Amino acid sequence: MAKYVYDFSEGNKDQKDLLGGKGANLAEMTRLGLPVPPGFTITTEACRTYMTTGVLPPELRVEVTMAIRRLEDSLGRSLGDFHDPLLVSVRSGAKFSMPGMMETVLNVGLNDASVVGLAKFSDDERFAWDSYRRLIQMFGKTVFEINGDLFAHALDAMKASRGVTVDTDLTAGDLQELVETFKGIVREQSGREFPQHPREQLDLAITSVFDSWNTDRARLYRRRERISDDLGTAVNVVSMVFGNLGPDSGTGVCFTRDPSTGKPGDYGDYLPNAQGEDVVAGIRNTLSLADFEQLDPVSHGELRLAMRRLETHYRDLCDIEFTVERGKLWMLQTRVGKRTAAAAFRIATQLVDEHLITLDEALERVTGAQLSKLMFPQFDSDAVRTLLATGMAASPGAAVGQVVFDSVTAQEWAAAGKDVILVRRETNPDDLGGMIAAVGVVTSRGGKTSHAAVVARGMGTTCVVGAEQLDVDATARTVTVGDRVISEGETIAIDGSTGEIFLGDVPVVPSPVVQYLEEGLEVALANVHGADAEETAELVKAVDRILTHADAVRRLRVHANADTAEDAHRARVWGAQGIGLCRTEHMFLGERRVLIERVILARDPVEHQAALDALLPLQRADFVDILEQMDGLPTTIRLIDPPLHEFLPDLTDLSVKVALAGERRSRGVEEETAEEFERDTVLLAAVQRMHEANPMLGLRGVRLGIVVPGLFALQIRAVAEAAAQRIRDGGHPHAEIMIPLAASVMELHLIRDEAEAILAEVAAAEGVELHIPIGAMIELPRAALTADRMAGVAEFFSFGTNDLTQTTWGFSRDDVEGAFFSEYTDRGVISVSPFETIDRSGVGRLVRIAVEEGRAARPDLTLGVCGEHGGDPESVHFFHEVGLDYVSCSPFRVPVARLEAGRATVEGASSDSR
Ligand code: ADP
Ligand code: MG
Ligand code: MG
Repeated sequence: MAKYVYDFSEGNKDQKDLLGGKGANLAEMTRLGLPVPPGFTITTEACRTYMTTGVLPPELRVEVTMAIRRLEDSLGRSLGDFHDPLLVSVRSGAKFSMPGMMETVLNVGLNDASVVGLAKFSDDERFAWDSYRRLIQMFGKTVFEINGDLFAHALDAMKASRGVTVDTDLTAGDLQELVETFKGIVREQSGREFPQHPREQLDLAITSVFDSWNTDRARLYRRRERISDDLGTAVNVVSMVFGNLGPDSGTGVCFTRDPSTGKPGDYGDYLPNAQGEDVVAGIRNTLSLADFEQLDPVSHGELRLAMRRLETHYRDLCDIEFTVERGKLWMLQTRVGKRTAAAAFRIATQLVDEHLITLDEALERVTGAQLSKLMFPQFDSDAVRTLLATGMAASPGAAVGQVVFDSVTAQEWAAAGKDVILVRRETNPDDLGGMIAAVGVVTSRGGKTSHAAVVARGMGTTCVVGAEQLDVDATARTVTVGDRVISEGETIAIDGSTGEIFLGDVPVVPSPVVQYLEEGLEVALANVHGADAEETAELVKAVDRILTHADAVRRLRVHANADTAEDAHRARVWGAQGIGLCRTEHMFLGERRVLIERVILARDPVEHQAALDALLPLQRADFVDILEQMDGLPTTIRLIDPPLHEFLPDLTDLSVKVALAGERRSRGVEEETAEEFERDTVLLAAVQRMHEANPMLGLRGVRLGIVVPGLFALQIRAVAEAAAQRIRDGGHPHAEIMIPLAASVMELHLIRDEAEAILAEVAAAEGVELHIPIGAMIELPRAALTADRMAGVAEFFSFGTNDLTQTTWGFSRDDVEGAFFSEYTDRGVISVSPFETIDRSGVGRLVRIAVEEGRAARPDLTLGVCGEHGGDPESVHFFHEVGLDYVSCSPFRVPVARLEAGRATVEGASSDSR
């Protein structure tokens, strides 16, 4: 027979799967000998059985009875007793804490009879009726799902009629009257009486907790967080302790270190004569722990000891709920606490210094996402700020701008040089133009996967979503917060890392962590200033220590995607160990566009070659600069990839221009010379000829190299001559040539043969030895699936995971992301954009196949990734697992990739030893 019920004395913290997070930690505290009110946990397995069969397992009823009896015996009280009743709380608690689960019901066991017993026993009539009204209120709201406002309004009305402002001023008589009112609300709204039998109350509450596992909100949250629907929730039944038994009682929450800054010391709030959530609900002003010490030094001392005990035991910041009942401390919950990015780094290194954890563990305790948060510019914390509202932090950064309410205005104002923040109820694909133009985006609705959030993150635009206090009226062009009305054009400041929205301008300061990355520890430390200089200095040192450790342990190398000497310089400063992707298409833009136009429009081979020849010295100079920046480090240069018509004018624009000119000329009006007209006509014919229905899958990449004579040859020659020049100048160039979009080994053969001839020719002509490996970008499913053959010709593979994702899913990134990805996440088709985090089972499988077969065919094959996934934390872990040699990402993400590559190594190591 399955065991569905565990007393707190039976479990421990490692049983979160079975007992849920709250239950496992209550058991752990009990084991440690901390004062936890006795109780028991009903397992997640009972929930799973209930979900599959639709009924509570019959054994559960029996086991609950036995557990209740054990509780009654140990406390010497019994459930529903007329004289001295046992009361319990019923608390949900899944493995991961999640929104949408049933809220806790306190004081279960009270009824019309036992309330009298409670009053007598406690010698406090007011307390007894207060507890009873709370039970009916919470039970009605959570178990019967009655609108909670009805109870809250009745309570307010009672306070108003008695002329008092706080609930503690209501008398026993008032509360007794309120109980009757509340019972009436239950009767009216649910069509049944408030259940008087304690066991019926208990069973209804337990079933409600199980049912709440499947509320829409909980399901949605799980889908987004990728938590399995099969886990189920546990239920904790805890004997009540009372913080509302008068001034020597109270309830509180505390942290063993400051979760927002990481400062050591204890932080918390305490509210005398209160129960449960009162302390965080803002019903009365709370006291600090220092005030609590004044009030009740004995309980405070005990709490301090318990906090220290827990922190030592969990070896981490703990978050604690406690209650004091008539001078006696009770511990009601603990867990490893959530914290800000800065706190995470500081606490991790503090714990290393306190010899509680190792540096490897410190590395596991911080994330790349946290590091990247620390790298965004921040609002000056010394500045005076007026907080307007707080929404969800959707895309980090600090943005200041004028409020606009529609996409068109955003674009117009931005074009006029203004910084604008687009404020919308929610966004849709029509808002894209405005989102691109704006420095920041705010919505009053929607969550972290709403259209606004997904698109803003993709663009790196600061964004706050779901700021529900904002009443956005796009027609009236105002946004109202409370009684403050903000009109179009007023300035606001938004913090995409915290979700805060401020009124007016707030000065922005560069991140001290970026300064450290760019100029080193000493310079960064010399520059910290302001009220929290000491904390900032500690943070910068913490980042340095952990990142240095990550560099020491990681196996993956980190390269950067950089197209210019400038980018290459930045990438190197930020710690890149090479360039994984140097795109060459920008080398044909700007003033050079006419040259490539000449290549395309050449009427005969001679003209064609002349045009190419004109490009050679320019490209060579580009490569010389980049190779100089990257001296000694691998520099992977990708041959031209986009379709050539991207270098020509737009088809529609040009058609209109030629048509208008033709029409004018037929009337004898000539605004342009005959030559210009002739040139445009030829150009139009070329554009028409080259027009493709689906350019992404058209004439691009290696296909261009094969079809357009001399184009790749030009680039290969430029690379070879640049390398030769660097060698002659005493440098150590490590250029590599990468062939894009190959699907067949024959394509590689053709280009490789051509390249080898050119390299040999340049080497001979320049009198140097050239070692320039030639490899393939693996970005089409067919390339991955024929990796063994590709590896016969390619000396390295670099996975182009952007295109590989597009071609594996059949998604055109630019078309689908803004258009329907938010709906796809809402409906659970995808939990995160496959362009953001690698799709392990599809795209990842192709990568795995190519790695295995490529290495089998050529053991010294170098393997890397150069898609944006190279800087995505979760994807970095995947690339570590499949055994790539390096990841390459944009320079800004290099530190994140370094950190995550280190984490992947230590996590791999600790799970191996488990
Ligand atoms: P949540 O998961 O939302 O934190 P909890 O189960 O922790 O909900 O309970 C809500 C509040 O009720 C907390 O303040 C908690 O400390 C308090 N509480 C829960 N059980 C008891 C109990 N047996 N006695 C007194 N207070 C309790
Ligand atoms: Mg809690
Ligand atoms: Mg590509």
